[in-house]
Amino acid sequence: MDEKKDIKSMNLKELTEELASLGEKPFRAKQMYQWMHVKLASGFDEMTNLPKSMREACETKYTYTSLETVEVQESKLDGTKKFLFGLADGNVVESVWMQYKHGNSVCISSQVGCRMGCRFCASTLDGLERNLLPSEMLDQIYSIQKLTGERVSNVVVMGTGEPMDNYENLLKFLHILTDENGLNISQRNVTVSTCGIVPRMRQLAEEKLQITLALSLHATTDEKRRKLMPVANRYSIAELMKACEYYFDRTGRRITFEYSLVGGVNDTDEDAAELTALAKPLCCHINLIPVNPIKEREFVQSEASRIQAFKNKLEKNKINVTIRREMGRDIDGACGQLRRKHTDALRTLEETARA
Ligand code: SAH
Repeated sequence: MDEKKDIKSMNLKELTEELASLGEKPFRAKQMYQWMHVKLASGFDEMTNLPKSMREACETKYTYTSLETVEVQESKLDGTKKFLFGLADGNVVESVWMQYKHGNSVCISSQVGCRMGCRFCASTLDGLERNLLPSEMLDQIYSIQKLTGERVSNVVVMGTGEPMDNYENLLKFLHILTDENGLNISQRNVTVSTCGIVPRMRQLAEEKLQITLALSLHATTDEKRRKLMPVANRYSIAELMKACEYYFDRTGRRITFEYSLVGGVNDTDEDAAELTALAKPLCCHINLIPVNPIKEREFVQSEASRIQAFKNKLEKNKINVTIRREMGRDIDGACGQLRRKHTDALRTLEETARA
């Protein structure tokens, strides 16, 4: 077993204490932190203003995570890029880079696989493999910034995985990501999306962060939600709404509701009326996502006219709503599809070899 500590997952205070135990002064910790989180060094050997002896000592004592770029897909429609990254243990994760008028946004994964079981989602089909370390979440952003040569200004934790199911690591990641000594991404430009793990949403509200919380709602009654999302068996919509209200009260941050429209399942006028009733009392924004069909499931997208009618109905009731632009539709756009294609291909190879 690997006993080495993961140096890139340490915040500056922890790193300072850690290096002090090796006899190093605090300014050395600051230099190293800058190499890791600002200059985005890919290993200790790049840290040329640190003494060689110190770098060698670190090499034996700590692991330094880095990602291997396995595949890059670029959308011909909108320039969106999708990356498949290899982790040290051979697992792969996917991340997406999107260019908007107001800056570049990266969507990262928080786990390898997922155990939440949402029926329309490709990321969860094989369950959870493992949690990602804070460093492995940071690395996705660092690698993309290096590969594209462009500064990342927005980060959304909306890739594979349920961030609230990897809470401690998520929190460490958020602190390092938004640290003024690191990449210094504004907390207001960071969004964490959850399928709705109520106690964690409440806990996050207490962390004194200015990040946006997005709730994947997708249905307006518990009965309907249970059919789409197993987590709805644990927490009711009433509890979710209370947790959202609490998050807003504690942070002053407007909540985002994600609502994936599935043809004939949750896209009727009645659904829109119920969604209005849920959203009205809260300070929120609704993001409508035309469901991205995956081959393992029957779900289909709502008709374009239905999506528009659904949106109009909400707007008429003064609900703040947008339809998510479908970025990278031509490049395995939905969560987990690229990783899945990769693991499917490996499986076929193994089966062929066995036959
Ligand atoms: N686990 C977190 C974040 C990951 S998914 C969560 O549930 O919020 C990010 C968003 O994409 C969620 O709203 C999720 O429900 C949605 N999603 C997943 N697969 C989708 C698909 N095939 N089509 C449309 N939306 C999808």
